[in-house]
Amino acid sequence: MSVNAEDVLKPGGRLVTQVPGPKSLELDARRKSAVPRGVGVLLPAYAEVGHDGLIEDVDGNLLIDFASGVAVTAVGSRAPRVVARVRDQLERFTHTAFFVTPYESYVQVAEELAELTPGDHEKRTALFNSGAEAVENAIKIARVATGRRSVIAFDHAFHGRTNLTMALTAKTTPYKTGGPFAGDIFRAQMAYPYRWATGADQCADEAFSAFVSLVSKQVGVDNAAAVILEPIQGEGGFIVPAPGFVKRVAAWCRENGVVFIADEIQSGMCRTGDWFASEFEDTVPDLVTIGKGLAGGLPLSAVTGRAELMDAVAPGGLGGTYGGNPIACEAALGALETMREDDLCSRARAVEKIMRDRFREFEAAYDQVGEVRGRGAMMALELVKDRDTKTPDAELTAKIQRHCLDAGVVVLTAGTFDNVLRFLPPLVISDDHLAEGLDIVAEAFAKHA
Ligand SMILES: *Cc1c(COP(=O)(O)O)cnc(C)c1O
Repeated sequence: MSVNAEDVLKPGGRLVTQVPGPKSLELDARRKSAVPRGVGVLLPAYAEVGHDGLIEDVDGNLLIDFASGVAVTAVGSRAPRVVARVRDQLERFTHTAFFVTPYESYVQVAEELAELTPGDHEKRTALFNSGAEAVENAIKIARVATGRRSVIAFDHAFHGRTNLTMALTAKTTPYKTGGPFAGDIFRAQMAYPYRWATGADQCADEAFSAFVSLVSKQVGVDNAAAVILEPIQGEGGFIVPAPGFVKRVAAWCRENGVVFIADEIQSGMCRTGDWFASEFEDTVPDLVTIGKGLAGGLPLSAVTGRAELMDAVAPGGLGGTYGGNPIACEAALGALETMREDDLCSRARAVEKIMRDRFREFEAAYDQVGEVRGRGAMMALELVKDRDTKTPDAELTAKIQRHCLDAGVVVLTAGTFDNVLRFLPPLVISDDHLAEGLDIVAEAFAKHA
C-alpha cells in the first residue's frame, strides 16, 4: 500500500485535496449518524496509514503530527519492534486473563517499569487498560494501604473521565458532566508561576504553604490517603510547577504518611527528555501512574510503586479482564526497547531545542505569546491579549489551531482558559517534518497575531 513518507513528501505535494478531503467527508457523515457527538473529533481527516511523524489520510494527504494521538505514539504509530512483537504474539494467543493463566510478558513489563521509574526501593507493578483506570487503582491502593480516605488533587489537574477521575480533574467543561462525583477529594492550588498573583519568585513557597494549610485545616492529615499530582500538567496547559514545589510536596507526604502519586500518564516514557518527568527534580514518588506512551499505541496502563503499598490490596482486589493484555504487553516491550536502543529521551531533548528556538522567535515577534514553556517534546505557548493583563486569548488560540489544521498540521490546544497551544510530536519525527510543521505555525501567527 503505502510508501515511505520521504518518497511522498515533495515540496507542495504533502496535501492533494482540501483537508478534510472528499473521502473523509463521506466517512464523517456516517460518523455523525453512528457516533455520539460527545466523542468529539478535532480534525475529521480519516487515517489510512501512519508514517513516523506523519499521518496519511484516506484522501492521500499527509498530515504533520504534532499530537501523537495525545502523547501516545512516541515511538511512532507502527514502530518496527512493536509491530514484530505484536505480530508474533497475535499468532500465539490473544488473551488468557493474566489472573487466570499468566504469561511472561506481563512480568517483564513489570520488571522493566520497576527498573525505569524513579527510586531504587522494592517495587511492584499492576497493569490496566487506560490512564483513568490506573489512576482509579492508584487511589484505591493508597486508601487501602493507609486506611485513610481523603485525596488531594490540584488546580488545572487532569486525571481522566471516569467517575472518580472526573472528581480529581479540575476543569468542568467538557470533562466533568454527569455527577454526582466521588467524595473526599480536595483541591490545592497549583504552583503555576506564570499566573501566580504575587509573581513567579514567590510561587513555590506560597503554593507549598497553601498546600500544607489546606491539608492540615480542611482535610486533616490523619484523613489524607494520597496527594496526586502531574509533574508537568497535561490538559491543564503544560504547566511546569515552580522549581522545588513538587519535591517539597513529595517530601511533606513522606513525613506525614501520605502516599504521593505522580500521574505521569502524559509526561512519562521519555516525553520530557527523561524516562519520567519526576526525575527532573529528583522526586521519588510512592506510586507512579503510567499510560499513553507506554505501549506504542496499544491500550496499556500501569501503576508502579513501593512494594509495601502495592501489596496492601488482597489477592483479587486488583486487575480486570483485559488488564495487561498479552498483545499490549508485547507492544510495551517493543516500545521500551525502541526508546532504550534509539535513545528517545535524548531525541526528546533535541526536539525541545528545535521547538524552543522557534517559539522564542514567536515570543520576540508577538506580544500575544505570554509564555513559552514545557520540557522535551512536551512544549506549549500560552497566548494572552497582552502581556500586562495576561488576559487569556482563547480566540487567537483557536484561530491559530484552525489555520494549522486546515494546512494539515495536527496541533492540540489545552489549558483551563483554552489559550494554550501544545505540541506533542512523536519522538521519531524527522527534523524536516518538525521544521515544516513549525513553519506553518509561524505562518498562522503571521496571519492572525
Ligand atoms: C490522558 C491522561 C489521563 C487519562 O488517561 P486515559 O487513558 O484517557 O484514561 C490521566 N492522567 C493524565 C495526566 C493524562 O494525561
